[in-house]
Amino acid sequence: MNAEHPLIAVLTGAGISTDSGIPDHRGPNGLWQRDPGAQRLVTVGPYLSDPEVRREAWRMRAAGGALTAEPNAGHRALVALERSGLPVRILTQNVDGLHQRAGQTPRKVLELHGTARETTCVDCRATGPMERALERVAAGEPDPACLACGGILRPRTVMFGEQLDGALLRQAAAISAACELFIAVGTSLKVHPVAALPYEAVRAGARLIVVNGEPTPLDEAAEEVVREPISTALPALVERLTARRG
Ligand code: ZN
Repeated sequence: MNAEHPLIAVLTGAGISTDSGIPDHRGPNGLWQRDPGAQRLVTVGPYLSDPEVRREAWRMRAAGGALTAEPNAGHRALVALERSGLPVRILTQNVDGLHQRAGQTPRKVLELHGTARETTCVDCRATGPMERALERVAAGEPDPACLACGGILRPRTVMFGEQLDGALLRQAAAISAACELFIAVGTSLKVHPVAALPYEAVRAGARLIVVNGEPTPLDEAAEEVVREPISTALPALVERLTARRG
């Protein structure tokens, strides 16, 4: 750890993207909790074995409009934090790519659950833009297959029933253990193994700030808990952090 440029780790969850119109499907009132049928669409077993599940999943993606969502003031505040010259790493549970769209340096964003902006083939592993697959759905292909090998296409996300990328998770754990400040934003901190990251940070001596609409299991360990809406709370927090520096 460099005392002059202390590392800041920011863990972000669904809450930071709700103001961009992306619903929190995993949250307590989210789609996956209310509708087990919907959860099948993002569960690896049914997705790979049942063509009707895939067709329904493609219809849902085509109707969802996630690719046209725009970053909000919360995403932009984290870009401002990075541009202030402080070393910042984003560890995100979101698959919407909005941190990068807002201007965050892509290699400094760890997408722990992958990205919904790309497809991958389950057979040959070829990747491509989700946009192109959705264009094929719109043009009448209900379950577009890999153009290279004919295999099943899926989003490059971690589905239910799958493990997170081990190397990526180790990298996130190393960042958590090395940071001076850990900020948890818009995440319920109930989903493991990601929920363990802030604990690793605190154990290693980091300060912890929680920004979330609802109480989290981590609130007691936090130096500060911010309960205001993220798109107003985060710009204010970043302003404080960057002013303290000057
Ligand atoms: Zn393929």
